[in-house]
Amino acid sequence: MRYALTLALVALTQPAYAAVPKVVTDFAPIQSLVLQVMGDLGAPTVLLPTGGDPHNFQMRPSQAEALAHADIVFWDGPELMPALARAIDSLGVGGRAVSLLHEAGGHMRSFGDGEGVDPHAWLDPVNAEAWVGTIAAKLGALDPDHADIYSANAAAAAARIRAVDAELVVELAPAKGVPIVEFHDAFGYFADHYGLTVVGAIELGDAASPSAARLSEIRATIAKAKATCVFPELGRDPKFIATVTEGSGARIGAGQDPEATSLSDTPSPQLYETLLRNLAKTVADCVKG
Ligand SMILES: [Zn+2]
Repeated sequence: MRYALTLALVALTQPAYAAVPKVVTDFAPIQSLVLQVMGDLGAPTVLLPTGGDPHNFQMRPSQAEALAHADIVFWDGPELMPALARAIDSLGVGGRAVSLLHEAGGHMRSFGDGEGVDPHAWLDPVNAEAWVGTIAAKLGALDPDHADIYSANAAAAAARIRAVDAELVVELAPAKGVPIVEFHDAFGYFADHYGLTVVGAIELGDAASPSAARLSEIRATIAKAKATCVFPELGRDPKFIATVTEGSGARIGAGQDPEATSLSDTPSPQLYETLLRNLAKTVADCVKG
């Protein structure tokens, strides 16, 4: 009897079994960072489907349901997914949404042409390291019984990110200062961090299809800067690449995937590292020739 009563009391005094927060994330790179912090405790829902372009994300009704019921939403920010910003507003979940770009202690840069905040901030590993700390702190505040676990997981994630970064610094050293051209204007953070010289992007930040005028402008840029490599992007029509490189002597690199759209069908804690490694390899391989 006494034993049973003790068990009952133990059960009553252990809210630790309650409530791991219901988490929603915007797209695969942030999902991967959140998976690292949540570890065995749970997994976030992700909104952007496999192969989706975050810039052109459109919300489905079932996703609005998930968003409305989330305890917390980790997302990049309105500059990357304007449609998600509108959904967060209209569903009134702003108070539960954490824009990692704006609120997580990383740094922000502007597009070179003065056209506003560049949202591709996950491509700087220093930002990702700050973000996992913020994700752990926010989850720990909602779920104090597991705060130590979130915090330990974030510390381990930060250590892994630093280790990958150290490898990539070495791998990309020969590419420093070599003029390259990217498919869309996503590489500012990555280039700033690793000392790469991006002389142009075929598509500008909003992922709009390039006009004929834009293509001849980029042809001129490639010629003037003597670009060594021009990179296509996975999931984007590569036909512009041949047009802009023709006769220039620039090499065409392997397809890049800065937004991890090709990796997102297998969400994993390792996806973020894979994303950085793949990107670095395309640059290092092409520059090597
Ligand atoms: Zn982009």
